[in-house]
Amino acid sequence: MLERPTTKEAWIARARATVPEGRAFINGHYVPALSGKTFDKISSMDGSVAGQVADCDASDVDAAVKAARTAFEDGRWRDKPATEKKRILLRFAELIKEHTDAIAVLETLDVGKVIGNSLAIDVPYCYACIQYYAELADKMYDEIAPMSPNDLVQVRKEPLGVIGAIVPWNYPLIIAAWKLGPALVAGNSVVLKPAEQSPFASLYLGQLAKEAGIPDGVLNIVPGFGEKTGKPLALHMDVDMIAFTGSTEVGKLMLKYAAESNIKRVALELGGKSAQIVMPDADLDKAAEAIAWSIYYNQGQTCHAGSRVLAHRSIKDALVAKIAAVAKAQIPQGHSFDPSAQMAAMVEQKQMERVLDYIAIGEKEGAKIALGGKRVMEETGGFYIEPTIFDNVKPDMRIAQEEIFGPVLAVIPFDTEEEAIRIANGTVFGLGGSVWTKDMNIAHRVSNAIRAGTVWVNCYDKSSPVTPFGGFKQSGFGRDRSPHAVDKYMDFKTIWTVYE
Ligand code: NAD
Repeated sequence: MLERPTTKEAWIARARATVPEGRAFINGHYVPALSGKTFDKISSMDGSVAGQVADCDASDVDAAVKAARTAFEDGRWRDKPATEKKRILLRFAELIKEHTDAIAVLETLDVGKVIGNSLAIDVPYCYACIQYYAELADKMYDEIAPMSPNDLVQVRKEPLGVIGAIVPWNYPLIIAAWKLGPALVAGNSVVLKPAEQSPFASLYLGQLAKEAGIPDGVLNIVPGFGEKTGKPLALHMDVDMIAFTGSTEVGKLMLKYAAESNIKRVALELGGKSAQIVMPDADLDKAAEAIAWSIYYNQGQTCHAGSRVLAHRSIKDALVAKIAAVAKAQIPQGHSFDPSAQMAAMVEQKQMERVLDYIAIGEKEGAKIALGGKRVMEETGGFYIEPTIFDNVKPDMRIAQEEIFGPVLAVIPFDTEEEAIRIANGTVFGLGGSVWTKDMNIAHRVSNAIRAGTVWVNCYDKSSPVTPFGGFKQSGFGRDRSPHAVDKYMDFKTIWTVYE
């Protein structure tokens, strides 16, 4: 095994020596797109070409779905004893762990996120999630319905069949694991479509799945663009379910595609505009630290980023100053492969431009920039934006309503608890939220009142495979993580037997 680099230069050398696998993984083998076409994957850290990716289309999707269907129908995975599924999935998790450095390099090449995060968060959360579901394999029971003694009524859960998993680029490995773990432990076959921006780390998982003993055809990975690859997967007549994570806009298309094809099930994990409510009695140092990390971690490209701060008017200015101080002191921005950096590049030029556009919109709307607001490190050729705070934001401004998906915090003052709750709930989203207070009565009231899938009290972004995660309202439905996530990849069957 190669020694882990310790400097930026050594990591960059490792990345440059890496030739990422960009071909599709279908029926247990890496294969080029049937058309032979590829596209360049641009590295956001410096704008260079990181590698070639198979430009898959409907014919590749069809081949992957056929492989998945055949594997499902002959039971090569579905019918394995639970203990065997568990052993294989645990081995899969173990192999991901063993390959941490190689996968982390690909994750950083894919997304531009700092290598330290890829090593410490993305890869470990990925294998921890697979491990969690592996361990669940032999702990799930069916039910016997209460009936008369002569009636044996089994309520069994059965896998759905072929799952299409369409995932975004912000946490490619973690979100893939959130789908693969429960879908596979339930006995399904999967066709995973990574985002066009982030194919490499996901594709690497194919060979590890095979080495672990997941039979050919059970896990297929088809890279490509949304319209060209994702759409035919979502429209496919032989896909039983689409597990989608991405924008609300594309999530709506998934429902349309399901209606236009075979009424496949759809689970949606979508965007957010999560509010952090800071009451006047809050521990401001603790709140400022968590808020800064919640919006600047991963360059703000986090679905549940705490992108709106609702600060009581009496402490707002002090809080803004503290958040800015945390950003400067604790979250140094640097090259994606700099091990000392905590913030790096946006995923791609388009995303950087979108965020800069929102910053211009915020200024035009009359909000005041209290920190940052500009592109930085342009000389690297990469797509870096500095940590940004907008102060004096009004709840109806676009920067307070729309998901920016970048390191841009909107600070909105409030005067009463009722007003804070109204503003917190006053967007189309409902993914996350928090309340900061020492008064547990307020904490209970406000956390109950926030319409969101997760509400943190005096903390933010605490996360584990053990807890369900997902949204209310237009942040989606269906939940990733926890044993509940397995249910959506299964269906109930009643078997009613009468004894003489
Ligand atoms: P996106 O919606 O643009 O793309 C997501 C995936 O859908 C990609 O694989 C893309 O190729 C594919 N896609 C795009 N158009 C498609 C189409 N017409 N048909 C089929 N597939 C299509 O989202 P993104 O920019 O990759 O990711 C950012 C979004 O994801 C943000 O809105 C973020 O909040 C959301 N997100 C949500 C969660 C959650 O758990 N709720 C987690 C992470 C990210």
